[in-house]
Amino acid sequence: MLVEFDLIQRHFGLPFYSLGQSNSATVLTGIGDDCAVLKIPLNQLTFVSTDTLVEGVHFFKEDSPSLIGWKSLACNLSDLAACGAMPLGFTLNLSLPGVDENWLIEFSKGLLWYAKQENCPLVGGDTTSAGLNGNKTISITVLGQAPSGHGGFHRSLANAGDDLWVSGRPGLARLGLLIEYQNRDQLGLFCSPSKLSELQSLLSVLPVELRACATQALQQPEARLVLGKSLRSFAKACVDLSDGLIGDLGHIVQSSALRANVSLDVIQAMWLRFWPDLAQNHNCESFLKILVECTLQGGDDYELCWTASPIHRNLIQKLESSPLRIGSLASGQGVWLTQNGHESTLAPSHSYNHFAELTF
Ligand code: ADP
Ligand code: MG
Repeated sequence: MLVEFDLIQRHFGLPFYSLGQSNSATVLTGIGDDCAVLKIPLNQLTFVSTDTLVEGVHFFKEDSPSLIGWKSLACNLSDLAACGAMPLGFTLNLSLPGVDENWLIEFSKGLLWYAKQENCPLVGGDTTSAGLNGNKTISITVLGQAPSGHGGFHRSLANAGDDLWVSGRPGLARLGLLIEYQNRDQLGLFCSPSKLSELQSLLSVLPVELRACATQALQQPEARLVLGKSLRSFAKACVDLSDGLIGDLGHIVQSSALRANVSLDVIQAMWLRFWPDLAQNHNCESFLKILVECTLQGGDDYELCWTASPIHRNLIQKLESSPLRIGSLASGQGVWLTQNGHESTLAPSHSYNHFAELTF
């Protein structure tokens, strides 16, 4: 079943019209024709990336539709950020089990809200039925640009001796997910029985502000586009953190045939800065262990992780999104964790795996 053209116009054509108009130098034809027509500025390279969000897998059925709209664009723009590209526009493929007008109104609002923030016009898409019992599927393709001298940050370009950096506070989104499961009384589904009571007691003493930051990180991430652009002069290899630090970093070390040394001391210090009173809690050690696991294994952060020569250290420290130097690259292979002078290795399988059972 193809949904009526009228419905597409009401929910996407009209609300996004003015954003298309304000980008009329690029968007020559937008929603409503067989193809969108874009004029790419001279001496720019075009970057393309696509991602799909599935109800029940990437978001809860009852999640706020406007936040789903926001997040589905943010996850896609995060891939442009990880390449140092800036947005040109995007297409939206929606597969829906039926026409839920209220859901569509709210979804479109959240999507427009974030599209305006990043000046990224919606230029076309497709709307189809998922069948009556199907799940909602949201597939977005983003187009981006960067000057032709900048071809992205390839995963294979890290050098031994590079510093290893992350932006923001990776791990917060996983903490937000734990809170969401707790709110639904489903924490037990998410972790092994031996971890359940520890997790419950951690969540019961979590400061209110940290709880709010974690929920926001999960539901309303922002692509690090400005940071990605600034990194054009500094970064060698770069990825965005969608599947967890260990797994995503695994792509860099594998492609660059190097090893990464990640300092657990730095990650612990990051959490303690966030939650200074934790140091006085008698469960500090076990809580920190869980929080560090959130950083290493949790997904959905959409922060950037990159390598750069130590000569840029002072300049990188001053960039936006509070860059944190968490380690370095060296000859060897795999991702190694160091703490108090001891080291251990972890396989890349410690990241989120779409086809593995969720355990924590
Ligand atoms: P066609 O049959 O030519 O593929 P459609 O009827 O699928 O056209 O879509 C009509 C117009 O609406 C096209 O310009 C298409 O890009 C746009 N469109 C369809 N669905 C969406 C959507 N979910 N978001 C934005 N534009 C859409
Ligand atoms: Mg079509």
